[in-house]
Amino acid sequence: MVKPSASASVTIDGQRLWRTLVELSRYGAGAEGTGITRLSLSEAEVEARESIVRLMKEAGLTVWVDAAGNLIGRLEAFEGGGNGADEAPHLEAYAAKRDGAVVTGSHIDTVVQAGMFDGALGVLAGIEALRTIREHAIPHARPLEVVCFTDEEGVRFGAGYFGSRAMAGGWNGEWLELRDAEGITLRAAMERAGLDPSRCAGAARTRESVHAYVELHIEQGRVLEELGAPVGTATAIYGHRWLEASLKGHADHAGTTPMALRRDAAMAAAESMLAIERIALAEGGVAAVGAMRLGPGAINVIPGESVFTVDLRHERQESLDAMAVAVQDAIVRTADSRGVSAEIRVIDGAQPVPTSPRIHALIADSCAEIGLQANPLICGAGHDAVVMSELAEIGLILVRSKDGLSHHPMEWSSPEDCEAGANVLLHTLLKLANE
Ligand SMILES: [Zn+2]
Repeated sequence: MVKPSASASVTIDGQRLWRTLVELSRYGAGAEGTGITRLSLSEAEVEARESIVRLMKEAGLTVWVDAAGNLIGRLEAFEGGGNGADEAPHLEAYAAKRDGAVVTGSHIDTVVQAGMFDGALGVLAGIEALRTIREHAIPHARPLEVVCFTDEEGVRFGAGYFGSRAMAGGWNGEWLELRDAEGITLRAAMERAGLDPSRCAGAARTRESVHAYVELHIEQGRVLEELGAPVGTATAIYGHRWLEASLKGHADHAGTTPMALRRDAAMAAAESMLAIERIALAEGGVAAVGAMRLGPGAINVIPGESVFTVDLRHERQESLDAMAVAVQDAIVRTADSRGVSAEIRVIDGAQPVPTSPRIHALIADSCAEIGLQANPLICGAGHDAVVMSELAEIGLILVRSKDGLSHHPMEWSSPEDCEAGANVLLHTLLKLANE
């Protein structure tokens, strides 16, 4: 084993990282003010993927495309002398290898009219970190990999994380028949991009081949900006529970019906919503009622029907369950007290994903080494890291987003913040690679 302390003063090239971000942002760029539209496996994204392959090669990495179209750049373990990247990996031997790789990565596909940082920063900071390690010939006992995952956003075909799911062994062959807005199947899109869709399941990796996964991503929220901090680390990624409540009262004339005789489904919904807010605050989670419909929906008619959605999120499974139970109880009780009936159904859910406390501590150490605070926070958005947690322990480094904006042309993280995040990534990868 080698000691990481010898490399503590090494830093990434911030200007080079910024240049690659600006270059990548040209792929899929629309007219002024419309941002970047680089849907997965579109012509623009395929060209961007080719530029990533060129950049990985330029960085001295061994590059291959796995069966699900994930682009992978690898730096072999290097314990001093010679050059870690000169030998192509022997994939079978490598799959069986016990010394798993330390993996970083993210995605370069975008939503419609997106910004230039979501996903892209993680891929490019990963390449920059590995390039720095190679250029400075920093010893690392484990191999290092940077992955550009296929279709994280799920915008084009309606289901995301294709690449990371395939890598984690969760590929579903039915996905190939999903169609985009123009009727093109995922199968056809993969073929057009020069990929063989029949092989996707072959992208699955063994747990032994991945020692740890660390992703750098923009925060896409306002917490770091509020704290005045360039970088944070996620302790967990929120789980969610989506409910739909249908309340039925009685539609009546809004003038002739005395207040005491009303069975107003909208008022019952309103009282329920305030209870939902109190429950979220009490449990330390978050809640939103994002959509609501009233029937019959006329200014002079008491609503006999209301249907509303509830989005509940929490970082702990027990608390998420408790929130969901309390919310359902509150809706039923409130409705009952107003002579209104309530039906509630669960329409979607996902478990919270904790990050590894061990990797979290290494990220905090790396922050301290470059004079930054680690700022633990809960991540509110899903990333490839969520899926990779099925394969290895994960860590998540977050970079401050201006005004919390994301999935928007005005998405912005400053060159200084991107550089700081990439340096935290560099030192975290090195610590993990020397375990
Ligand atoms: Zn993303």
